[in-house]
Amino acid sequence: MPADLQIHSTFSDGSLTPAEVVTAAREAGLTVIALTDHDSVEGIEPAREVGEREKVRVIPGVELSTERDKREVHILGYFIDYRAGWLNELLQRLQEARHKRIYRIVEKLTGMGIEIDLERVLAIAGQGSAGRPHVAQAMVEAGIVDSVPEAFNRYLNNQAPAYVFHAHLEPRRAIELIKQAGGLAVLAHPGISQVDEFIPELDGLDGLEVYYSGHSEEQTRHYLRMAQKYGLLITGGSDYHGPGSLKPVTLGVIKLPDRLVEALEEAWRKR
Ligand code: AMP
Ligand code: ZN
Ligand code: FE
Repeated sequence: MPADLQIHSTFSDGSLTPAEVVTAAREAGLTVIALTDHDSVEGIEPAREVGEREKVRVIPGVELSTERDKREVHILGYFIDYRAGWLNELLQRLQEARHKRIYRIVEKLTGMGIEIDLERVLAIAGQGSAGRPHVAQAMVEAGIVDSVPEAFNRYLNNQAPAYVFHAHLEPRRAIELIKQAGGLAVLAHPGISQVDEFIPELDGLDGLEVYYSGHSEEQTRHYLRMAQKYGLLITGGSDYHGPGSLKPVTLGVIKLPDRLVEALEEAWRKR
């Protein structure tokens, strides 16, 4: 049962609906996926419905955006009780904060003489968590940049002039929340976030996303060693965002073996 434990849908910045994600996963030979939208669990139910028909198991997931010391840290939650009312209310608030942040990013761009239509950005974001990728898409549409990566490099990444901090959750708080929701907490794409020194301090962290589409072999080896050193579970995900989207990732590049999915589930049952 090859698995991919990090996939996004239209409920955040992915281009496929949850139903389309499940079909694409089956076609890519995956039998287990986790839907991990940014600060949203709304895609899980529709994904599970299709998953039942298509024989793809959908593990409920989420990717919480956090910040510490002005660094971006993404915390994945697995096997969460995605129906919990309090969790949905909290995510609703995070999504409102995301909208305010988008507003401030657009303001910053305007201050730089770059006219971006806020309404257009929100329309691109649609039903899901609004994020910088949606701003980037609007910038491509308006002919300000040629590509989404260019928008990030020149304007939107956390070293760039139109960056606005989220400043709403600390990594440890996100871990606590995931545990309150009955889930396991995993540090996403550690090789991209580059926050190794935080790892021993993240109380309650259960795992490390060792296998990741953007990790080099060297990084994979490094994080395997770190997982062993700190007694963390090993997970893996492609961070697939759908076709024509931000990241040119092919579904199926990460196929986590059975034993790692089983270890994750067993740890969850024993938690
Ligand atoms: P946000 O949720 O607004 O903080 O945006 C973060 C998301 O933007 C990440 O999860 C990625 O999907 C995407 N992203 C971050 N950096 C880049 C980049 N350099 N190029 C393309 N997409 C990126
Ligand atoms: Zn994303
Ligand atoms: Fe992430």
